[in-house]
Amino acid sequence: MASVIKTKKNAMLDVQAIRADFPILEHKIYDKPLIYFDNGATTQKPRCVVEKIENGYYNVNANIHRGVHFLSQAATEAHEEARKTIQQFLNARSSNEIVFTRGTTEAINLVASSFTDECMSAGDEVIVSVMEHHSNIVPWQIQAARKGITLKVIPMNEKGELNLDEYRKLFSERTKLVSVTHVSNVLGTVNPVAEIIEEAHRHGVPVLIDGAQSVPHMSVDVQALDPEFYVFSGHKVYGPTGIGVLYGKEEWLEKLPPYQGGGEMIASVSFEKTTFNELPFKFEAGTPDYIGSTALAEALRYVSRIGMDNIAAYEKELLDYATDKLNTIEGMRIFGQAADKGAVLSFLVGNIHHYDMGMLLDRLGIAVRTGHHCAQPLMQALGIEGTVRASFSFYNTKEEIDTFIAGIERVRKMF
Ligand code: PLP
Repeated sequence: MASVIKTKKNAMLDVQAIRADFPILEHKIYDKPLIYFDNGATTQKPRCVVEKIENGYYNVNANIHRGVHFLSQAATEAHEEARKTIQQFLNARSSNEIVFTRGTTEAINLVASSFTDECMSAGDEVIVSVMEHHSNIVPWQIQAARKGITLKVIPMNEKGELNLDEYRKLFSERTKLVSVTHVSNVLGTVNPVAEIIEEAHRHGVPVLIDGAQSVPHMSVDVQALDPEFYVFSGHKVYGPTGIGVLYGKEEWLEKLPPYQGGGEMIASVSFEKTTFNELPFKFEAGTPDYIGSTALAEALRYVSRIGMDNIAAYEKELLDYATDKLNTIEGMRIFGQAADKGAVLSFLVGNIHHYDMGMLLDRLGIAVRTGHHCAQPLMQALGIEGTVRASFSFYNTKEEIDTFIAGIERVRKMF
């Protein structure tokens, strides 16, 4: 069971109690305490999530939806309950609007494929931004090659904020969809998605928001934001790998054709004619990850107990603390200085290659990510090949940041 999270007077979270929920954080790497600053890539799992998976396979395992027997019905109930938990977490109108996918990537591919098939023809346009992850670029390029659609790209300023004036100019009568990230996985920029959505709606254009880096760090209300599609990955929000979510407004999911064919997604099949299942099953071909769905729901209950607003406030404190300290290091260049920024720090120090910095920090037990972070077009816009990226979670501490800063100083002095 997760420990109770208390709010102390001078701390928004009882971080030590939280850390006790994550056994991996007790590990030593090269005899040094693990400092895990690679949360943007994936987060560690609290005990309750791992136990949910274990309990699922030990006690509630049977294929769902088609079984008349007890276990199958119990597993089906758990899976559909999980869908409701996700609906409530996102404040979606109906659980029919929650489609399980393998993750953000599959969810975007689903929309790219089905939306393009139904709603686009050669010459039509999709607006993305310069700071997209490859998973919100390449699926559209695949459709561009298939159907002759075009990508238009919102540029950013030197702080890493999207240029909304330029965005407004990108609309034409051929614009069919806007697809942008809520939070940049490289720059940490929190994009003004409410404004972006509003502008698109003024043109009658639907919007997809990539929530891979927002759902783990802030409260998201899809009815308040009002996008047509919102997607995220379970593993980045303390849940298991291999499961994610596509939220879609019911009217849009109704309109789009299925993405994959197979079991579960059909109402009836004959060699003459097949009819498709109702929502959300129309988009869930094959046996779903019914253990992963319940573990994802457990993860969402876990972060909800801490409180998304508490998480956002604490991670902001970590970000500000780390930014101030990083800025004292000679030769430091931080990429991403947006006014509204999530707990991600991408940087380079002098001429030290990001890979060398990452390797040497690793020897000190500090896990950071290096490279292009699946955002090569952004790297091209910044004129660099890659960065070192530290991305924080609510289980990280200022003491860990101090060790990290001392580590960077040590590496800097070696070069
Ligand atoms: N979008 C953003 C902004 C991301 O940061 C990531 C992963 O890092 C993805 C999409 C892809 O997520 P996944 O690999 O879980 O599908």
